[in-house]
Amino acid sequence: MSSSVDAPSSTPEPAKPSNFLRQIIEADLAAGTHAQRRWGGGPGDAAHHGQGQVDEARIRTRFPPEPNGYLHVGHAKSICLNFGLARDYAGVCHLRFDDTNPEKEDQEYVDSIIDAVHWLGFGWQDADGHENLYYASNYFDFMYRAAEYLIEQGLAYVDEQTPEEMRANRGDFGRPGVNSPFRDRSVAENLARFREMRDGKLADGAAVLRARIDMASPNINMRDPAIYRVRHAEHHNTGNQWCIYPMYTFAHPIEDALEHITHSICTLEFEDQRPFYDWLLDHLREGGLIAAPQPRQYEFSRLNLTYVITSKRKLKHLVDNAIVSGWDDPRMPTIVGLRRRGYTPAAIQMFCERIGVTKDYAWIDYSLLEGCLREDLEAKAHRAMMVLDPLKLELSNWAEVFGSDQHLEACELPALPHAAEELTPRRFTLGREVWIEREDFAEVPPKGYKRLFPGNKVRLKGGYVIECTGCEKDADGHVVKVLATVVPDTKSGTSGADSVKVKAAITWVGVADGLQAEVRLYDRLFTDAQPDAGGKDFLTLLNPDSLKVVTAYVEPSLAQAQADDKFQFERFGYFVADRKDHTPTKPVFNRITGLKDSWSK
Ligand code: ATP
Ligand code: MG
Repeated sequence: MSSSVDAPSSTPEPAKPSNFLRQIIEADLAAGTHAQRRWGGGPGDAAHHGQGQVDEARIRTRFPPEPNGYLHVGHAKSICLNFGLARDYAGVCHLRFDDTNPEKEDQEYVDSIIDAVHWLGFGWQDADGHENLYYASNYFDFMYRAAEYLIEQGLAYVDEQTPEEMRANRGDFGRPGVNSPFRDRSVAENLARFREMRDGKLADGAAVLRARIDMASPNINMRDPAIYRVRHAEHHNTGNQWCIYPMYTFAHPIEDALEHITHSICTLEFEDQRPFYDWLLDHLREGGLIAAPQPRQYEFSRLNLTYVITSKRKLKHLVDNAIVSGWDDPRMPTIVGLRRRGYTPAAIQMFCERIGVTKDYAWIDYSLLEGCLREDLEAKAHRAMMVLDPLKLELSNWAEVFGSDQHLEACELPALPHAAEELTPRRFTLGREVWIEREDFAEVPPKGYKRLFPGNKVRLKGGYVIECTGCEKDADGHVVKVLATVVPDTKSGTSGADSVKVKAAITWVGVADGLQAEVRLYDRLFTDAQPDAGGKDFLTLLNPDSLKVVTAYVEPSLAQAQADDKFQFERFGYFVADRKDHTPTKPVFNRITGLKDSWSK
């Protein structure tokens, strides 16, 4: 069986096409931008366990998910990008949990993210075996000290306006903001008040610590952004130790700096945050809290994939409202969903390479992702026959030709045509009765029809040539059985195989040895190519036919199929043995994708 198809291919990849990030990294490596990095030791030395100076020129990237949901195909782009760049330039990529929002985060999500990144084929180990797995919450002490430092420098103040006042006084695009009445408090007063926030003396929302920058800045993100808020909530990592939590925009640059990230790569929404990122790190470096050179932020455009939603919140809505069966429903664009659907890490990596990295707004056609899967599985997934819409066919001259109605003819077909190595062929038997596909019989053949109709001959794939003689119907006129005769001495692979010419070979499964299987036919989850764009309500765009469950027959070789094994069922496409529900006695196959593109217009 093809259980090894999950392993990312180890054959060397052809040279990667360049992109703006590769150009920046190559220029930095050539200029030795990071080679002078001094590993400070002390609080700033989160990423490196040693002390002193390290004269290496390696790049460090990071993938910083918030553990508030399962990762999706958009995150896969970010993972392949960050871990891929580190791999290609002999650097390191950190996995860091941006866990600054205690209410929404959960250990379940942490575990699923670790699993997803590993499954995609990436790790976070240094060359010397050090594990670069971090939590923003491990830096809360340092972040607190950095906040007090800003207060001491007159660069931050505790604002006690109501949230409504703060919003109104922020101004907007064409209107500058208004200074808060709390903006000119003394350092001593700010320090005292901030410590009261820390000590639990203030209620949620009663005060925030704000950076003191410029309320008239054309960039709204620079109008005294909030950097700490009061939140009396238990944290999945720090428990009840804190009741104030840093804002993402404050925490993120600090995390990057403490881990000596060289290239902090994020999606374009963060472009307007870059001035604050630099403002904060410039001040912390001047104060000696972090080391030079500082990390730099670079933005790229997020993945938009047709027929897919990549908002964690909306995906969670689908799960919470039982619109899908869970985060790993095979229709979900989550990494666990794609995995259960039958996608391979190699196909997802190939997809991420092909879509490339730019700053352009674009939609990627879903067929590109499916194409990568077909390309990966074409040479790996073992072939098998399946009958999805079964109709019984009886070979009425069976006993005449073979001496007994019970006789079974041994047949075989290659597990993988054109395989490099020799594989055990698939073995199955042909007997008096077989299952054929209902659409392979027509009492009155349409023009050009080459399959079974009275008087026509076809080959049962891997078996004999048969000639159709008619059919049996029920009281309502529905065909319940096709009748045919077997043409002796025409067995596939024997010298007589070509003695009778036929125009079609049809797929079939023997009634005697075929296995019944549950087959889940998945289709796109939404009927609209952009279900989440332009103010559309994605809940009104659900495809009612996104899942059809049928009872099918599959050839007996499938009795050995293990969960996660992938197959190409001839004529129907690629299928995977469901990783949750498949057992050898109750086989369950999910359709991954058809053999041909059915998505692009
Ligand atoms: P949230 O709405 O919860 O913030 P998020 O998708 O931004 O959702 P994060 O956990 O913050 O979730 O994302 C981790 C990283 O993945 C970020 O660096 C983010 O830029 C990146 N990312 C998220 N969605 C996409 C996408 N569609 N394409 C590329 N990168 C993405
Ligand atoms: Mg985010």
